[in-house]
Amino acid sequence: HNHIDHATPEKVAAAIEAGDTHAHVPDYEGFEAYVEGGGYAVLKELRATGDWEAVQDKVASSGLRGLGGAGFPSGKKWGFVRAEAGPRYLAVNGDEGEPGTFKDRYYLERVPHLFLEGMLIAAWAVEAERVFLYMRDEYPAVLEILAREIGKLETAGIVEPGYIDLRRGAGAYICGEESAMIESIEGKRGLPRHRPPYVAQVGVFGRPTLAHNIETLYWVARVCREGPEVLSAHEKNGRKGLRSFSVSGRVKSPGVHLLPAGSTIRDVIEAAGGMLDGHAFKAYQPGGPSSGLLPASMDDIPLDFDMLQPHGSFIGSAAVVVLSDKDSAKDAALNMLRFFEDESCGQCTPCRVGCEKAVKLMSAERWDRDLLEELSQAMVDASICGLGQAAPNPIRLVMKHFPDEV
Ligand code: SF4
Repeated sequence: HNHIDHATPEKVAAAIEAGDTHAHVPDYEGFEAYVEGGGYAVLKELRATGDWEAVQDKVASSGLRGLGGAGFPSGKKWGFVRAEAGPRYLAVNGDEGEPGTFKDRYYLERVPHLFLEGMLIAAWAVEAERVFLYMRDEYPAVLEILAREIGKLETAGIVEPGYIDLRRGAGAYICGEESAMIESIEGKRGLPRHRPPYVAQVGVFGRPTLAHNIETLYWVARVCREGPEVLSAHEKNGRKGLRSFSVSGRVKSPGVHLLPAGSTIRDVIEAAGGMLDGHAFKAYQPGGPSSGLLPASMDDIPLDFDMLQPHGSFIGSAAVVVLSDKDSAKDAALNMLRFFEDESCGQCTPCRVGCEKAVKLMSAERWDRDLLEELSQAMVDASICGLGQAAPNPIRLVMKHFPDEV
């Protein structure tokens, strides 16, 4: 479940040779084309004469926030990590296990070097001695692309051989939680850690660690190459920036749609080609199952960080699932809780037992609303990490907005 392995270029090459890969590698921009378009010039310049605080200011003025779901201002972490004595590490979270989220994969399968350059800029900014790149194993094409392209970076002398340590996750959703990911990188079971201490102080192998999501680093490269306006120039409904929505469900064109961060669900559905014929918009999951379900009537909320919290939800990784009148909100919520039951790491009782009890209660014809509410509160109050704390969101939101179904 939490097995890890080193996907070295040699191992990947051997696997391909042996026919032991199912990866369909799409066309993507490789190292040569990226360099031809000016790639890695910024990194080289920064390494030669750069001022990390100037880069941090640039990133801050772009408004970039952590796109793994937490939304922490991106450059700010660099200062926390730098304040600690070295050696320091960078841990990149490519686990992307949130159901409905596929934006990291989208960028990695098209422009892997924008991500890689952003990663090396962040590594430079905190003087990371080593980079641990934790990749979802269910993305075989991405693993192949990264192994190949990292090999080219080594050959070109942009990184020392072994500087980027590509690690394969093994499908545990909880390993997308940063401290569980760090445990897994260390070769242990992916159990979230108590905080404090924060990973900026005590991260991989006890060293100060900067943790970033893939898409965040993709934007770091673009902000450094194109200027902060690449994000900050976009404004909608009073919100600045852009958001890569992973859209699925009852829409005509599911996929990644890049829209202003202030977009509403109506804008997202429109960008995704509208509702499928014969389907009327009923509800949506705004940001992964932890964000629960909101009704179609709440269609004017900007889907940006901080905007959904007053409604008992959040945007997370912007994994939007659109449900229609042919779908049951009750079944959707039960499906989400079954997922959490499966993926709970089992470390703490409110989550391990709470998810199981919730699934049993939600499988009944009519929900025992008082008991489910009491259970939800216990999970929110007493779970160690976000999985258990947010798992009740679908329960509460469906009870509130779809009372007739439950
Ligand atoms: Fe594990 Fe759930 Fe506790 Fe998180 S809340 S540490 S997933 S048991």
